[in-house]
Amino acid sequence: KGIIIAIDGPAAAGKSTIAKRIAEKLNFTYIDTGAMYRALTHKALQLGIDMDSDRDLSKLLEETDIQLQPNRDGQAVIIDGKDCTEVIRSQEVTANVSQVAAHTNVRKMMVAKQRDLAAGIGVVMDGRDIGTAVLPNADLKIFMTASVEERADRRYIENQRRGIQTSLAQLIADIKERDRADSEREVSPLKQAEDAILLDTTSLSIEEVADQVIELAEK
Ligand code: C5P
Repeated sequence: KGIIIAIDGPAAAGKSTIAKRIAEKLNFTYIDTGAMYRALTHKALQLGIDMDSDRDLSKLLEETDIQLQPNRDGQAVIIDGKDCTEVIRSQEVTANVSQVAAHTNVRKMMVAKQRDLAAGIGVVMDGRDIGTAVLPNADLKIFMTASVEERADRRYIENQRRGIQTSLAQLIADIKERDRADSEREVSPLKQAEDAILLDTTSLSIEEVADQVIELAEK
């Protein structure tokens, strides 16, 4: 009860796949914080909000209801009552989300929401700053990485499954750019927490990674 597992790492490292598995296995709640930033980005794009304005984005966030609903596939993302699970993964949202997530006040509001969601329950939360900023007292912190080629390969396969067409070269470029933006931003950049366990999943299967994390969690 109240146990917290934080999983951070660069883009497309398999964090959400693993986090979902572990949450299911341990009967914890899975919280995808990237989906929350994606939800705000999606709504901002739809309304033509200035992506440079922390103030406008924060105001929009205040007026937006974002629900993460657990389901068979992991989790549905509901924005103002509408299912946006798929659309928040679009190329357009992906290309703009780091800019939205770099704003000080947007992050402050998101972090407050994320802490509320995790209060008093067993959770697996994944993102970029969970171990360093959102839940620094987490019971287990994992920093999950894989080579950029491997991450692009996995995303390519996932995109094919979802009927999205992107070249491997484009995926590599996009992933590198997002990692750069997320690592270089001023507020809680993507960074391994000092007490996080580094897990390089380049040559591991989903099962192997999940088993390793569960073993660590049960210690
Ligand atoms: O995890 P995912 O790739 O869906 O995250 C999308 C983006 O949201 C990241 O590239 C990053 O800019 C932002 N993000 C963040 N902090 C988090 C989770 C995601 O800044 N905790």
